[in-house]
Amino acid sequence: EKIEAGWNFDNSYTRLPKMFYSSQSPDPVTAPELVLFNSSLAASLGLNEAELNNNDGAAVFAGNKIPEGASPLAQAYAGHQFGHFTMLGDGRAVLLGEHLSPEGERFDIQLKGSGRTPYSRGGDGRAVLGPMLREYIISEAMYALGIPTTRSLAVVKTGELVFRETALPGAIVTRVASSHIRVGTFEFAANFGTDGDVRALADYTLQRHFGGATDFENATETDLRKGIAAGRYLFLLQEVIKRQAELIAKWQLVGFIHGVMNTDNMAISGETIDYGPCAFMDTYDPATVFSSIDRQGRYAYGNQPPIGAWNLARFAETLLPLLHEDEEQAVQLAQDAISEFPKLFHKYWLSGMRAKLGLYNEEEQDESLIEDLLSLMKKNRADFTNTFRALTLNRIEDTGLTEVIGFEKWYAEWETRRSRQSQSRLDSQKLMQHSNPAVIPRNHRVEEALEAAVNDGDYTVMHRLLEVLSDPYAYSPDQDEYCELPVPTTVPYRTFCGT
Ligand code: AMP
Ligand code: MG
Ligand code: MG
Repeated sequence: EKIEAGWNFDNSYTRLPKMFYSSQSPDPVTAPELVLFNSSLAASLGLNEAELNNNDGAAVFAGNKIPEGASPLAQAYAGHQFGHFTMLGDGRAVLLGEHLSPEGERFDIQLKGSGRTPYSRGGDGRAVLGPMLREYIISEAMYALGIPTTRSLAVVKTGELVFRETALPGAIVTRVASSHIRVGTFEFAANFGTDGDVRALADYTLQRHFGGATDFENATETDLRKGIAAGRYLFLLQEVIKRQAELIAKWQLVGFIHGVMNTDNMAISGETIDYGPCAFMDTYDPATVFSSIDRQGRYAYGNQPPIGAWNLARFAETLLPLLHEDEEQAVQLAQDAISEFPKLFHKYWLSGMRAKLGLYNEEEQDESLIEDLLSLMKKNRADFTNTFRALTLNRIEDTGLTEVIGFEKWYAEWETRRSRQSQSRLDSQKLMQHSNPAVIPRNHRVEEALEAAVNDGDYTVMHRLLEVLSDPYAYSPDQDEYCELPVPTTVPYRTFCGT
């Protein structure tokens, strides 16, 4: 008897108005080879590893074989790229379909690098092995850090070359997401569709991510005209704002820099999406930028919260016709909602920073205690992750700040502050351990893993790295070598888009 792979597709996106997608099969590739398979993710999705971690799986994850029930499509979207509005869409990805897990949770199964689509513009629709492996490593690291994110189920080499500045090995990553609805999807509807299209997308999104917002369903026609039932769309806006505030706070708390926070790369679900030029910061500096094309520092570490608000304002604009029949009132509602973002972000960030310092209760002066530490770290170019790790381990000399003027005073204040809470020192340390990762995907470690895999076909380095990153709060001795800093160099680390 044939044991099945476990696919359970139900493709709700195809029930949206036609403008939102194009049916599109992936382009078959010559010689698919499965190089990474995520066993634990597969298991949690109810997929059968024995049926997929082999040549059959390679054919599926390469787009050569369409699993039963899938209904491949490319999604249409638009977006603001570095502030400029443009039409986009899945130019090198297809959504195979939505898979329902055994718990009934819905996940997009998307192949990225699967060939040209109607939205490819000048692009070849393909992706390069190194960057797809990088997406796998970083998205899985983010998941283990407890940060909402898309995940990576598999990477296949296509056996074909992709032409960038040089010829490079091609690959496809299978991305799993709670959805791929973006701020840019709403911008697409608002700019190229009718109010009815925006409403259809908003209702679909409420259903898919916000429990349908059923509280608002009893509103009458009169309520609707008065803008009362519109509470449903205001609720959508407020919830999306809240999730982004929470997400971006989590990025800041671990030093994650997304690198290309265009509105098409901001997911309505509140998951981190689109791992291109992202990277983790070593030295603490709010001006840190890794992306080779971000010359103005628009997406620098310290700019991520205000850029989040900017993107959400673009989202709010798309909802204006749904918020109130009176435009002025709609604008007022949207502005009020957006003005909550900085407050929400600050609340999540502050509570996360308190946890990083082992503080359970709240005191007025906590924020200045935190700011004082960050300013000492910035001035002395302290390593972000290792400073908090050293404080967690109570290895003060490892903070690299012991010789610094002002640190002794700061440390004494922190000690006094910690003694003003009822929790024991041990409990405080436990909170710190759960809030301060010992390991992050440090750039030099990621590069080392990619080099071994891409140049030598040696995946052992990557598997060790993935293992260590899968439990970043473990503080186990075998993680110690992954805490070491890169050899100092004058060449700054650079990341790239669209590779
Ligand atoms: P990103 O910078 O990754 O958010 O991509 C921006 C847009 O470019 C998206 O619409 C992508 O689908 C598209 N794109 C990126 N690389 C390619 C490629 N090689 N071929 C076609 N479209 C691409
Ligand atoms: Mg993108
Ligand atoms: Mg991308």
